[in-house]
Amino acid sequence: MFHWLFAGLLLAATLTGCQAEAAPQKANDKPQILATVGMLADVVTVVAGDRADVVAMMGPGVDPHLHKPTRRDVRALASADAIFYVGLTLEGRMADALERLRLSGRHVVAVGEAIPSDLLRHPDEFEGHPDPHIWMDVRLWSRSVDRIATSLAEFDPEGAETYRRNAAAYQRELRGLDDYVRQVVATIPSRQRQLVTAHDAFGYFSRAYDIPVHSVQGITTESEAGLADITGLVDFLVTNDVPAIFIETSLSPRNLQAVLAGVEARGASISIGGELFSDAMGADGTYEGTYIGMIDHNATAIARALGGDAPERGMAGRLSTVTK
Ligand SMILES: [Zn+2]
Repeated sequence: MFHWLFAGLLLAATLTGCQAEAAPQKANDKPQILATVGMLADVVTVVAGDRADVVAMMGPGVDPHLHKPTRRDVRALASADAIFYVGLTLEGRMADALERLRLSGRHVVAVGEAIPSDLLRHPDEFEGHPDPHIWMDVRLWSRSVDRIATSLAEFDPEGAETYRRNAAAYQRELRGLDDYVRQVVATIPSRQRQLVTAHDAFGYFSRAYDIPVHSVQGITTESEAGLADITGLVDFLVTNDVPAIFIETSLSPRNLQAVLAGVEARGASISIGGELFSDAMGADGTYEGTYIGMIDHNATAIARALGGDAPERGMAGRLSTVTK
């Protein structure tokens, strides 16, 4: 905790220094909006339509729990007209700095605050913090859409009607996505309906779509898996004949490899069910590089690898790789 605080102070100090410098040249007159993670940038882009330019600070494969702002990030924070972040301690090393920017009067919005506290998960291992991975439950995440529309309208009142309309259309798409995820996860035979991943990003997915989840690492990616955790998980997988475990694109698969080796040493077999997008999306410009594509990919890969039924290219036939 202490080093987060320290990094936050350092960033705040750097930012104050930066404001004196000339702001980078804007490509046009549209408001420049910065969002921390890709999932959030995607939703802001959809709601903003062509009224603003939206940039994601963290690209594909970046771990938001550990991301330390680069010089470029610091410049982007200083020059953005509005900043959106998830909050709920997701952006562990930037949270203090973001809060400080907000208190200084900048237009800074934590969309996690749109979620009523009784809908957040508060697992014991999070030591009093809510679970920040709210995008994993599509209905829960869809609450952030209205919050984004309202915030953009405060910032740009002339666009209010556009934002409201874009948000409503997107909400309809999200309802379709939520139905699809629910449907395909329900087709997994109940004994095999166990989701094993590298870190605790899938708690909301588990709660919303009724699939128990187990992770090798804890809630933030800063903790290391202990030998006892790995042995316990190996026992569980062998006893329950779980057919596949999953890697995450923003994390090293090292801990999961120890689990695979453990299962094989017991004479059982298990496969890698593919890569899941947990805290970052797929490549820019691809379907998996959107929030809807990311969740479609995850649900499809999980259902198919665990013996359920899902179309090989997902909800709308748009997945770029055939899932197992
Ligand atoms: Zn995470």
